[in-house]
Amino acid sequence: MSDYILVLDEGTTSTRAMLFARDGVLVANAQKELDQHYPQAGWVEHDAAEIWDKTRQCALEVIPKAGGAAMIAGIGITNQRETVVAWDTATGEPLTRAIVWQDRRTEPLCAELREAGEESEVQAKTGLLLDPYFSGTKMRWMLDNVAEVKAAAEADTLAFGTIESWLVYKLTGGRKEGSVHITDASNASRTLLMGLEDAQFSPDLCDLFGVPVSALPTVTDMSGALAVTDASLFGREIPITGLVGDQQAATIGQACLEPGETKATYGTGAFVLTNQGAKPPSSRNRLLGTVLTQIAGKRTYAIEGSVFVAGSLVQWLRDSLGIVEVASQTEELARSIPSSGGVTIVPALAGLGAPHWRADARGVISGLSFASGKAELARAALEAMAHQTHDLAEAFAADGTRWETLRIDGGMAANTWMAQDLADMLGVPVERPGFVETTALGAAMLAAVGAGLYDNLASAAVAMQGQLKRFEPAMDADTRAERLKRWKAALKAA
Ligand code: ADP
Repeated sequence: MSDYILVLDEGTTSTRAMLFARDGVLVANAQKELDQHYPQAGWVEHDAAEIWDKTRQCALEVIPKAGGAAMIAGIGITNQRETVVAWDTATGEPLTRAIVWQDRRTEPLCAELREAGEESEVQAKTGLLLDPYFSGTKMRWMLDNVAEVKAAAEADTLAFGTIESWLVYKLTGGRKEGSVHITDASNASRTLLMGLEDAQFSPDLCDLFGVPVSALPTVTDMSGALAVTDASLFGREIPITGLVGDQQAATIGQACLEPGETKATYGTGAFVLTNQGAKPPSSRNRLLGTVLTQIAGKRTYAIEGSVFVAGSLVQWLRDSLGIVEVASQTEELARSIPSSGGVTIVPALAGLGAPHWRADARGVISGLSFASGKAELARAALEAMAHQTHDLAEAFAADGTRWETLRIDGGMAANTWMAQDLADMLGVPVERPGFVETTALGAAMLAAVGAGLYDNLASAAVAMQGQLKRFEPAMDADTRAERLKRWKAALKAA
């Protein structure tokens, strides 16, 4: 019986193929690192041909562990969002390097549109802000600056897509006849080119950003019979039954399926998403609105807030200050003292993200004395995660979304001291899954539903999600108030 799910997890630094059994257990895993290209300050590029090549190799490595392609009920793809690939449908090959989500080269174009007063309408339609992060201006940059992209547009052989779109094109044959050019609604909602309530890319938004609609994929559901792989790739056809951007995947993998349910991923940065149900969100506090799910044409939405610096602060303590040798040592240091002794860190090392959005802010360490040592700094760094998350919680609440629990994941969530501190400072229970690969699990759940193994995401969650560990708030009100007072004062200095 074909009841394995193959997940292709396309991260920023690596590509992976992961084989899940129908009960959510990870059976096999293959991973390859991706080359990062930094041609100029602020520019980040990937080689789309390398991504496809390594993805195919990883898939070929794990498929035999299922007993062959016939044993796989469906493929789910989850990906780094916003990254843009341009390819030629005449050859099926990339026309230029992919522009990665982190790339800031389109800031002048964004500034021009902001100055022209376009932001409020764009935000009302798409839920996004005019920032280089999103895909639309990256496409426009390629059309304006890469001769091959421009020529393909003129010859009507240009295809644009985010990473899942590119992989589906290659998986379905990679040539003009027979290949499928689609994108799912969660990825499409990160481009600036689709309104939150539009079924397809919007001609008006495409006009505003100068992107030809004809080069864009068709927007599809995130779960269902979306496409089938070319039989020559894996020995026989395999259905592609799930497509989802990484943060939406983690939200689904954490089973945040009801309005108000919230997850926070603490990796390099931190990403918080709250399920908003069927009504498109509109934020008055510079949070983002995004598509969470689209199944059988029906959408649910999420509100999203991101913090630029989370685990990267711990990396900085390790690599630049040498306070710890490995990230996990921050936990024993934090536990070794009763408080940070008044030391407070504002981790604005790369500006401040939501809800402050101050690109010009810089980091601050306040409250230093001769008694301050490694432990105080490590503890202050971990405390900063709860402080930043607290500010997001206030912004979400001001937008009408009060968190009742917070489900956490990402590399930093392994830090149990931090998990308890989050519960204490937010005043809500924090839950951490035993299986931390929530992004891959979310893609597996969508693909399992799409392949008909489960009727809906709620049943898939019951069958596939493991045990959660719960942290209850335990801090007294005075300590909490003192912490927040210190944080607010330090934030002013940033
Ligand atoms: P990404 O997916 O963004 O690459 P990960 O989810 O793998 O990131 O998380 C890695 C980050 O988490 C690193 O920045 C690291 O410093 C931090 N980290 C990992 N383990 C711990 C820990 N036990 N305590 C604190 N920080 C940690």
